[in-house]
Amino acid sequence: MEDIEKFINGFSRFQQQYFQDSQALFDSLREGQRPSTLLIGCCDSRVDPMLLTGSDPGDLFVVRNIANLVPACTPTASAGVSSAIEFAVCELEVERIIILGHARCGGIRAVMSPRKVERETDFVNQWMRVAEPVAERVRRDLAHRSSAEQHHACELASILLSLDNLMTYPWLKRRVEQGLLKLHGWYFDLEKGALMAYSARQHAFLPLVGSLPERQDAAA
Ligand SMILES: [Zn+2]
Repeated sequence: MEDIEKFINGFSRFQQQYFQDSQALFDSLREGQRPSTLLIGCCDSRVDPMLLTGSDPGDLFVVRNIANLVPACTPTASAGVSSAIEFAVCELEVERIIILGHARCGGIRAVMSPRKVERETDFVNQWMRVAEPVAERVRRDLAHRSSAEQHHACELASILLSLDNLMTYPWLKRRVEQGLLKLHGWYFDLEKGALMAYSARQHAFLPLVGSLPERQDAAA
């Protein structure tokens, strides 16, 4: 019950903020949406795209799935994800796509350390097959490293896989080549509270917003 009350009170605050205090914004949104950005993030409750980016309604077109994956463009690709990408790119003509990965991703843990499930379905492992090529490579190349290091490497590598897979959609590739669409790979390090971005030039994830200085111990 407590959570439900929190959500209802939250809606009241949202109503106040946007329907009363920002009437102009919602008046324009009633006419339609024109988001500049498609963000593909994880379902993880700790990684909320709007909260993390300080976005307002209408700013982000969001697709969330386990481990923020983009399947390659094939006839058998998950239409749930592909249709959202198609709509954002072809109809809304977004200017950028951000793949937002994160630390401690349960989906990545599932593909790196698969467990047999004792229930009627296994949709998680079925979906995570999209990331299997990078998981295999990480397991092979970093076999001597700890599982935490392997998971971290797979979290980053899966963002790059999704960026590569985006380019298999022909209409998306055309817009990138025409300079109309930019692709970004971001990583939220929720352990350190930092945001990293992939630099193609440096082949590395570099800090976009670094972590805060060490918190002072109030008792000290
Ligand atoms: Zn995740």
